[in-house]
Amino acid sequence: MSTVTAYAATSATEPLTKTTVTRRDVGPTDVRFDIHFAGICHSDIHTVKAEWGQPNYPVVPGHEIAGVVTEVGSEVTKYKVGDHVGVGCFVDSCRECDNCKAGLQQYCTGTGMVGTYNAVGRDGEPTYGGYSGEIVVDEDYVLRIPDSIALDAAAPLLCAGITLFSPLRHWNAGPGKKVAIIGLGGLGHMGVKLAHAMGAEVTVLSQSLKKMEDGLRLGADAYYATSDPDTFKKLAGHFDLILNTVSANLDMGDYLGLLAVDGTLVELGIPEHPMAVPAFPLAGGRRSLSGSMIGGIPETQEMLDFCAEHGVAPEIEVIEPDYINEAYERVLASDVRYRFVIDTSSLRGE
Ligand SMILES: [Zn+2]
Ligand SMILES: [Zn+2]
Repeated sequence: MSTVTAYAATSATEPLTKTTVTRRDVGPTDVRFDIHFAGICHSDIHTVKAEWGQPNYPVVPGHEIAGVVTEVGSEVTKYKVGDHVGVGCFVDSCRECDNCKAGLQQYCTGTGMVGTYNAVGRDGEPTYGGYSGEIVVDEDYVLRIPDSIALDAAAPLLCAGITLFSPLRHWNAGPGKKVAIIGLGGLGHMGVKLAHAMGAEVTVLSQSLKKMEDGLRLGADAYYATSDPDTFKKLAGHFDLILNTVSANLDMGDYLGLLAVDGTLVELGIPEHPMAVPAFPLAGGRRSLSGSMIGGIPETQEMLDFCAEHGVAPEIEVIEPDYINEAYERVLASDVRYRFVIDTSSLRGE
């Protein structure tokens, strides 16, 4: 085992502090890599604040991890020392269920996916995430980061990027398709960029027009305020696909009414309370309400390659680890455009 420096939460109410955690020795199929950057995802905050159930403290969050390989196990074939790699929301799964075999490890029905942090690995040890200096992960759960994507920009692709890419692909966003993105935050801004790069017509539906200039610059064709009731009249029956990145309950009747016949509204955020869904707008338009959660390993690799090919990268603000707690406050206040990325260099080599 090796000891690495990390930032961890020790309770739901204390700030994250610098500490050390252990990483397992590199097994035959493992890859060890220096973490260079780790994105801050809203899920990190939900987890450390025990809003998604009681976590096992200490929690070292971070599931948007990018770095450089330093050691590979004897049976590793996909990676070598010096390769740019990343890890997203999970580091293992059962590998045997139909979903795992189909490359949909995020929907593993065997053991369930093993989270990058706040889970238990197959070695029986707790998993610790990316707010640290290095990590050891089985090569099958490691992604290759194309050279043309800078490591700091690559990090948020591993969760925010794939969370949007997967439903856009699944529901065939592309030329001739009208796509709406609800919310222009860390997830939403990736949705705008990706849908635009796929050739779809992209509309942002945001509470206000405050970020309109940004939205249009990032690739949106139109931008509407949902606080304006006229928006729902003007856009009635308009969209083929609506991706909701906001983890608050929506007036489903209003939003389903924006879908064209056979359109789909996909929930990506996870609201705390159940939502009321009126059946009339579903039936009167053969519309669907669905959900989507990150993406599997093959699709995450496809997303990274797509981003490299199309020059898609998140808008980021790079911070030092001692700024994490302040960054959390700013995420909660929606005061970030559009993703915080921790430069973890000070956590390495200690
Ligand atoms: Zn995330
Ligand atoms: Zn499985």
